[in-house]
Amino acid sequence: MLSAADREIRLGFWKIHILHHAALREVWGTWLLEELAEHGHSLSPGTLYPALTRMERNGWLRRTGTAPHARARQTFRITPAGRRLLKELRREVTALYKEVALDAESEPKAGRS
Ligand SMILES: [Zn+2]
Repeated sequence: MLSAADREIRLGFWKIHILHHAALREVWGTWLLEELAEHGHSLSPGTLYPALTRMERNGWLRRTGTAPHARARQTFRITPAGRRLLKELRREVTALYKEVALDAESEPKAGRS
């Protein structure tokens, strides 16, 4: 089960992760569930699939097809709008990483907020 912190904060991280992979290749639900699980995020299909649908509605992903053999294997790729968003998010993630992760390691620092 997802904790409140997962829903509140991590949903955005997962979407960035999904955009990243959809920029590299076709992705689909079961593959994404395994990929996120490898990173320690055990999403349920009930969380992932609505997120994919919202990302599609927002114009960041497009459906590319269905593999004939696998069950419900709807595939997705990133759109040009999704690619622009990912580019911006990459900059923001990098800035956030520098401040939240790297600065935190070198704390305490006086006179900074
Ligand atoms: Zn990944």
